[in-house]
Amino acid sequence: MFRRFAVGLVAMLGVAAALVGTAPTASATARNGVCESGEFCLYYNSGNAGSRVDLVNSQRDYGSGSGCIEFVSSGSGQGQCVKNNTASVWNRTGKPVFVFYNSDFGGVYDQIPDGAQVDLNANVKNNNASQIVGDASLRFPLAVDQADIKNRTPHWCWDSKDNCHHDYNAADIFAATGTSVLSPVSGTVMTKNVRAGSTGCDSVGSTVTVKDGFGRLWYFAHMDDSPAPVVTVGQSVSKGQRIGYVGTKYHALCTDSHLHIDMRVGVDSRVSCSASACAGYGFVNNQPLLRNAFLELP
Ligand SMILES: [Zn+2]
Repeated sequence: MFRRFAVGLVAMLGVAAALVGTAPTASATARNGVCESGEFCLYYNSGNAGSRVDLVNSQRDYGSGSGCIEFVSSGSGQGQCVKNNTASVWNRTGKPVFVFYNSDFGGVYDQIPDGAQVDLNANVKNNNASQIVGDASLRFPLAVDQADIKNRTPHWCWDSKDNCHHDYNAADIFAATGTSVLSPVSGTVMTKNVRAGSTGCDSVGSTVTVKDGFGRLWYFAHMDDSPAPVVTVGQSVSKGQRIGYVGTKYHALCTDSHLHIDMRVGVDSRVSCSASACAGYGFVNNQPLLRNAFLELP
């Protein structure tokens, strides 16, 4: 009789602790099946139901097969990989969390505010491969307004999630020579190369790479040499800070002046490649993030 009462009391205290949302003793312990403060929790079913797993960090790839991140608590889906199987989430990290369709933080995504207990949006529900814990959003990399881009011909595939002008994941955004190029992220300048354009208009122009706090390396090309990029290697840049200027058509492979931007994860300098030779190097589709940044422009 007393024993039953004691068990009941413990259960009630457990419910109370869950409602308050605090873990009174241990700090967040990842993958113990308990969604603790500081964690991002993935659920097999909608409505925060079914088996769950609790994570604390960004993940480049949830993984497949043995060694994958799997649902661990008892319930429907226990033991299955979370990749392409997550229906709902609970964000207790204190930061926004971005869940992406592709590994290495690529493709369409869902942005989950701190505190939200929600089903993933249609983009990534049961189609999820990686996550960033923190603000993964971008500042549009040019000092323009929407009309400046839309009114150019060609412009940029701003209204399509498909990349354009390239046979690998990269974006070309057409803009007037001299337009300020802005860093889309806070990070560190890893490389800078100042190159004059040739009259044969066959140059990549001046280039800069910036690595952000999530391991994403951003590469900017076809910038001007005079004035040259205004940053130095090793310098910290903040989101929206000017790094250089769009070059002339002589910096842009015979096309009209534009900014080339591409992104890879987990490297410090961009691989040397061009056109289809770049296809196998793991460039990530950043078009959805760029498009969202574009739509935030005036
Ligand atoms: Zn390009």
